[in-house]
Amino acid sequence: MAAAALGQLFEGMKAFKGQDQRVRLFRPWLNMDRMLRSAQRLCLPTFDKAELLECIRRLIEVDKDWVPEDTGTSLYVRPVYIGNEPSLGVGLSTQALLFVILCPVGSYFPGDAVTPVSLLADPTFVRAWIGGVGDYKLGGNYGPTVFVQQEAKKRGCEQVLWLCGPDHQLTEVGTMNIFVYWTHEDGVLELVTPPLDGVILPGVVRQSVLDLAQSWGEFRVAQRKVTMNELLRALEAGRVREVFGSGTACQVCPVHKILYQGKQLHIPTMENGPELILRLQKELKAIQYGTSAHEWMLPV
Ligand SMILES: *Cc1c(COP(=O)(O)O)cnc(C)c1O
Repeated sequence: MAAAALGQLFEGMKAFKGQDQRVRLFRPWLNMDRMLRSAQRLCLPTFDKAELLECIRRLIEVDKDWVPEDTGTSLYVRPVYIGNEPSLGVGLSTQALLFVILCPVGSYFPGDAVTPVSLLADPTFVRAWIGGVGDYKLGGNYGPTVFVQQEAKKRGCEQVLWLCGPDHQLTEVGTMNIFVYWTHEDGVLELVTPPLDGVILPGVVRQSVLDLAQSWGEFRVAQRKVTMNELLRALEAGRVREVFGSGTACQVCPVHKILYQGKQLHIPTMENGPELILRLQKELKAIQYGTSAHEWMLPV
């Protein structure tokens, strides 16, 4: 019997082994919240978030020898949920399959260094739009991006900078949220990322970067739209310090080039340290591999 798997959604999070050999998950409650929201959006049967998290914890406990030890390494945890109603029609799925894949992953960047990526910003490709489902981790959001990713490679870029709207708002970098650290037009030093208006995926690392930066209280932390024109003006005036992506895979990833309307824009992220990126990387690592209890970590 054919099963029309109309609903497909997934999650991504990491478990880290601390110096004390204990394994801990990074803010998994946020992943459970997001996964349940995705299930509700696809009208798949709902589940108990605490119960699923306990299942994942037990699974990692069984497989704890697969969690690598070196700093920078981790166990990637990929919960998947797909409707498998034995019907060909487009309708409600009363039956679904939930499974979790584990995979040890190496360090994204070797050592304490970071390597920057180049981006293709082509407004003819749109990832998500107001009223759409860009703010959910649904399978359907990712399949169509592979083609655009290949297009970026053809044009010598490593990743895609997703733009949205007639004013070419910066929304995300590949499967990462985007941050700009600059002196805003009003003269104030700030870290800005687009707001969660339905187009942006509510990233766990995005939230963590906002939380950390806010706790330092050293510069303005804003959630506001950023357009390509604003970025061009800021680059021209030398106001841009760092541009970076955030996500579970790399944590924070510097951007040094953007190909936009036939022009190669140079972003001076690396020339500026990158001070903020390295500091965020260090603080996140301290929490993830640290031996002291942190409210963001769930011991397995
Ligand atoms: C998963 C994802 C992110 C990052 O989310 P994290 O929870 O920080 O890993 C950002 N953008 C998109 C489009 C994503 O799919």
